Amino acid sequence: MSVPERPALLILGGTAEAVRLANRLVAEWGSRYEIVTSLAGRTRAPVRPRGTLRVGGFGGAVALQQYLADHKVCAIFDATHPFAARISDNARRAASIAGVPRIVLVRPHWEPFPDDDWQKFPNLVALVDALPAMARRVFLTIGRTELAAFSECRDMWFLVRMIDCPDGAVPLTNCTVITGRGPFAADDERRLLEEHKIDALVCKDSGGEATRAKLDAARALGLPVMMVERPAVPDGPVAGDLGAALSWLRDRVT
Ligand code: NAP
Repeated sequence: MSVPERPALLILGGTAEAVRLANRLVAEWGSRYEIVTSLAGRTRAPVRPRGTLRVGGFGGAVALQQYLADHKVCAIFDATHPFAARISDNARRAASIAGVPRIVLVRPHWEPFPDDDWQKFPNLVALVDALPAMARRVFLTIGRTELAAFSECRDMWFLVRMIDCPDGAVPLTNCTVITGRGPFAADDERRLLEEHKIDALVCKDSGGEATRAKLDAARALGLPVMMVERPAVPDGPVAGDLGAALSWLRDRVT
């Protein structure tokens, strides 16, 4: 490959925060660094950040380490979704071996209000085990890649929301699939829950504003929420917001 002219700052993306970060980095550091956002390529029409976009897996931690060297990457921002544990761990390992500074952007958890009826589960398997005792008509907002976990729930009906239409058949016996990308409004979410006579919401503790309206709607209707807990945040420095990530960078590069 040809040697890049400028050193790069690499953002591992797939979130709204990653897009905002890229836009800020281009404005602040774009004259000195190539600002590269990397996406896995799961979403058909992702929101485009400013700067350079690359799409597709790197091929594991060792290949990512090679990418860092080939592209003269000076710092990594892991702004992936809190449930994207594999790429975060690959980034941790690759950055550590290559000696490239890395920071993880972590969204705050969603917190329940006093009257909220939330149950948290360490993983989807535990949640699926508990589900039949809790609900018959479920609003399922966990994305499209892990739906098979619910395939044995044959007596239940699911309203499944995902960003893109599924590529093939959804592995659920009784369901309706809708597509949509946040931000969603609480009134619209409430209408959706009422229209489909939903009796429980199943989601991940993704955090963030874009998809929290469903929790407000569930509260308004007194519905239970069953939530999968996040995997552990990988070791290393963490930023709770964009400002903290940018000041971390200012302390490291010139
Ligand atoms: P994952 O399980 O952690 O990663 C699986 C593989 O996908 C990685 O090993 C890597 O392939 C590739 N990959 C993931 N993110 C990448 C990125 N930003 N750039 C390049 N390659 C990437 O991830 P996931 O849970 O499937 O999520 C995939 C993407 O969707 C992430 O970027 C994440 O931010 C976004 N997302 C995930 C969720 C969720 O609930 N998991 C929700 C919303 C958005 P190689 O090993 O080949 O490098």
